[in-house]
Amino acid sequence: MTEMTQQYLSPAYVDEFIQWVIASNKKLPRASSSKTKLPCTYCSATESTTWRPGPCGPGSLCNKCGVMYMDSGKRNRQIDLIMSKGTAMWVRKDQSCWLWKEEKEAPCTDPRVSAWLTREKIRNRLTRELNPAPMKRQRV
Ligand SMILES: [Zn+2]
Repeated sequence: MTEMTQQYLSPAYVDEFIQWVIASNKKLPRASSSKTKLPCTYCSATESTTWRPGPCGPGSLCNKCGVMYMDSGKRNRQIDLIMSKGTAMWVRKDQSCWLWKEEKEAPCTDPRVSAWLTREKIRNRLTRELNPAPMKRQRV
């Protein structure tokens, strides 16, 4: 049998695969939970009343930055993390023209940022190589 296997990778499957790749790659330190004293991945603050979820995981943003990252019904996300030229770059929405502008590089020495970057690189590669977009037909 020479049947072509047309594979579609759902985002959930890609996530799972990435987790597996990261878990089996011992070079990466395990990202720890919100109880750590690691600074905010956006503004580097080390103290905050509460720690909020960000692109680099739970508790990776201080209160102030976490609010800017939050995407709720009333206000849109104002900061986000993108991959730019192989590095993690924070972008910020310009309030006057609603365009995203590159603001600063995220600290890649932070294990949470480097884990994010690794994940994004794998995701990009997988999406590009294994997931030709137009054929998707997914049943949930
Ligand atoms: Zn912050």
